[in-house]
Amino acid sequence: MSQLQRITIAPSQLQQDLIVLTPQQEHYLKRVLRLREGDRFIVMDGLGKWWLASLSKEQAQVSEELTVKTELPVEITLLVALPKGSGFDEVVRSCTELGVSCIAPVLSDRTLLNPSPQKLERWRRIAAEAAEQSERAFVPTILEPMAYSDAISNTTATHRYICEARGEHLYLKNLLTQTSEEIVIAIGPEGGWTDKELQLAVSFNFQPVSLGQRILRAVTAPLVALSLISAACEA
Ligand code: SAH
Repeated sequence: MSQLQRITIAPSQLQQDLIVLTPQQEHYLKRVLRLREGDRFIVMDGLGKWWLASLSKEQAQVSEELTVKTELPVEITLLVALPKGSGFDEVVRSCTELGVSCIAPVLSDRTLLNPSPQKLERWRRIAAEAAEQSERAFVPTILEPMAYSDAISNTTATHRYICEARGEHLYLKNLLTQTSEEIVIAIGPEGGWTDKELQLAVSFNFQPVSLGQRILRAVTAPLVALSLISAACEA
């Protein structure tokens, strides 16, 4: 299956075993990928389902549902303080490849950027592309940018961590077990968290953790956190 091309559809495009293609998808399949009628490709709904499909005129015919095993056994939500410039694009792309379930862009005390609505669309597009590229079954959810206090107070995850570059904190790797099911982990901006922000997180049962002895950039820290979690949780 791996050499077949993949496209993501909206769940409403699937009607019984027919997929109604958008003009853009039709263009992509026929003109860009040069598929012909009868050629097969993979269709994903971004919600965990994959199907094998073949191209017909303005539609595609679904032949079978496929089983995908590319998801982590743990649901990870990243709260990421928005970094400078276009740094968040790379965070979204790499974290999608690494298996994140949900990313919440957070406006913290030291966040420099208040993003435009176009940014959110762009991040969601990047997440969809990266999910397709890395053969994920799910496209991670990218939430609208939110205030730090809302992000911290609204979580329901049982395992809650906040990454802090300075001080004596337990190494994240040593706290994880294979049975962790739902994890939320917060990463600060270039200037780090303020004491007030750390205290608020602690009051909502977030445990301050270290990602190792070096000070990582705001765009590197999420990748390290996700790699440590997947190393502990993936069989
Ligand atoms: N300017 C700050 C560092 C900010 S690094 C300082 O000098 O202290 C950006 C964010 O990445 C931090 O807020 C933290 O969440 C995370 N981070 C970077 N290195 C880390 C480490 N070694 N352990 C835990 N978190 C780290």
